Amino acid sequence: MSRIAIVPGDGIGAEVIAEGVRVLQHLAPDLALEHFDLGADRYLRDGATLPDDVFVRWRDEFDAIYLGALGDPRVPSNVHAKDILLGSRFRLDLFINQRPIKLLDARRSVLKDKGPQDIDIMVFRENTEDLYTGMGGTFKEGTPDEVAQEVCIATRKGVERIVRAAFAYAAERGLSRVCMSDKSNAMRHTGGLWQRTFREVAAEYPGIEASHLYVDVLAMELVRAPERFQVIVTSNLFGDIITDLGAILQGGIGLACSGNIHPGRVSLFEPVHGSAPDITGKGIANPLAAVLTAGMMLEFLGRPDDHARIQAAVRGCLLADEVTPELGGTLSTRAVGDALLARL
Ligand code: ATP
Repeated sequence: MSRIAIVPGDGIGAEVIAEGVRVLQHLAPDLALEHFDLGADRYLRDGATLPDDVFVRWRDEFDAIYLGALGDPRVPSNVHAKDILLGSRFRLDLFINQRPIKLLDARRSVLKDKGPQDIDIMVFRENTEDLYTGMGGTFKEGTPDEVAQEVCIATRKGVERIVRAAFAYAAERGLSRVCMSDKSNAMRHTGGLWQRTFREVAAEYPGIEASHLYVDVLAMELVRAPERFQVIVTSNLFGDIITDLGAILQGGIGLACSGNIHPGRVSLFEPVHGSAPDITGKGIANPLAAVLTAGMMLEFLGRPDDHARIQAAVRGCLLADEVTPELGGTLSTRAVGDALLARL
């Protein structure tokens, strides 16, 4: 029996996770779900962000964490979000940020003449290094001579494990193409490490075509010919940008899901969107990203059939316009949840 920690979080996070939980309970009633009261309300109440005892329980007792969103105008420092999200990412060493770019309904893409058969990509974004380690500093801050430095970190271990994850994913699914993207023409040191590591790992997978594109070219190609890509592997910063571009190709942020994964360990799954304070409490948040995220989590937990059923139900809702207003529909968050359950 798998154990899942549920963290609805802030704003629309709680609204969309409620629908994801209904789907989970319907499809997989044997899962043990435990809710955790973490987020802005909790922080404002007693100052707790990610208490040590909670972190240790997640690490030792759970298989997955299902998170809504974190961010609240009452906590301008966003300290609770940083502690919970970045804290689990680094402390649990969730080195894979897996974000699908998968178009389910041709009408939802911003690209004309592209359908679901053209846009079906899995992005492997490195999740623990690059420009996100906080290394660097400022000197003579606030003066005309100010200097600021952000250090870009790439380690052999870090690059190799994300590249291996991408190839393993392709091999397991019978896919034939992996594209690595960097900026090694300008960033010669980290780029060189990515290039060498990618070539070495690719040599172990002779049946898979290994290609490379500079990230600026990848941005253009994703829009021009997304059907070229099956699996993309890239660094933390480039992955962040490329997957947001991908979210729009597949129909918007309300449909984008993600997993922060360390194979074999507790991993964290979250919709890509934020807490959206502007629509919180109105009952119009789109729950489909959260529900697709639940599907990814079920696949991670060894239930690919349940993932496929969720994708089919979401596709059904999209095609029938059983969607929230930002996708042109008239349904509430709850009503989309009802429509999904009816299809499931
Ligand atoms: P953050 O800074 O945490 O990312 P955010 O919620 O303001 O916060 P986005 O998630 O990028 O940022 O969302 C931008 C806007 O898109 C939101 O303000 C909201 O209007 C809309 N939006 C985001 N997610 C959804 C959703 N699930 N359903 C409907 N609208 C959404």
